[in-house]
Amino acid sequence: MANYELNIAHLYGNLMNTYGDNGNLLMLKYVAEKMEVSCHTEIVSIHEPFDADKYDLVFFGGGQDFEQLIISKDIQKKKDSLINYIENDGVMLAICGGYQLLGHYYMGANGEKIQGISALDHYTLSQENNRFIGDIVIHNEEFNETYYGFENHNGRTFLGEGERPLGKVVQGQGNNGEDQSEGVIYRNVFGSYFHGPILARNEKLAARLIRLALEQRYGKELDLPYLEGQTA
Ligand code: GLN
Repeated sequence: MANYELNIAHLYGNLMNTYGDNGNLLMLKYVAEKMEVSCHTEIVSIHEPFDADKYDLVFFGGGQDFEQLIISKDIQKKKDSLINYIENDGVMLAICGGYQLLGHYYMGANGEKIQGISALDHYTLSQENNRFIGDIVIHNEEFNETYYGFENHNGRTFLGEGERPLGKVVQGQGNNGEDQSEGVIYRNVFGSYFHGPILARNEKLAARLIRLALEQRYGKELDLPYLEGQTA
C-alpha cells in the first residue's frame, strides 16, 4: 500500500519525447512503487497554464528544433510560474531540448535563435555539420554515482552562474565536447543530454528525484524503504 503520493507534471509531454524520453515517467512510477509512493501524472502542454503549487515533480523531455520553436513561444507564458517553481526548490528533470529551453537560448541547426526562459544561466550554441552521438558515461563525485546513457544532440551547452554539472564525462562528449561537463544541477533541477531514457539505466537518479520530491512535499522525516545500494 502506498504511504505517500506525488503529483508529476509532464511538461509538453505530447510534443517533447525524443528517443523514448517518456520512458522516464514509467521508470519514476516503477521506482516510486518500490518506495511505496504512488504517482499521478498529467501533461501540461501549449495553451495550458503551469500551476507551480500543484506539482511535486516536473519532467520535461527532449525534442527536435521544430518542436522546440513552437514551445519556445508558449513557454514564455509559463516562464514566471516555472521560475517560481524552481526557485522554491521544486524538483525537475529536463532532457536535451527541455534542458536547453530552461536556459537563455539555443541556436538551432539552421542558425535560428530559439529563446529559452533564462530560469537557469546556461546557453546553447549549435555546431556545423556535426552532432554528438553515441554512448556516454559520466561520474558525479558529490553523490559518488556513475550514470550511463546515449547522447544525440547538435547543441553545445555552456553552464553559467550557480550551475554545476550533473557529472564529469568519462566517455562521450557531454554538454559541449570541451569542458568535460555533462548536464546540470541547479537547486533541485537536473538537466541532461542523456536519452535512452536516462532513468531506465540509472535507477539511483530516479530514486534521488523521488526522495527530493517527497522531502519537498512532506518534510525531511520520511519513513521510506531504501532501495538496494541506495545511500542518499
Ligand atoms: N534539437 C536539439 C539538439 O539537437 C535537441 C535534440 C534532442 O532533444 N534530442 O541539440
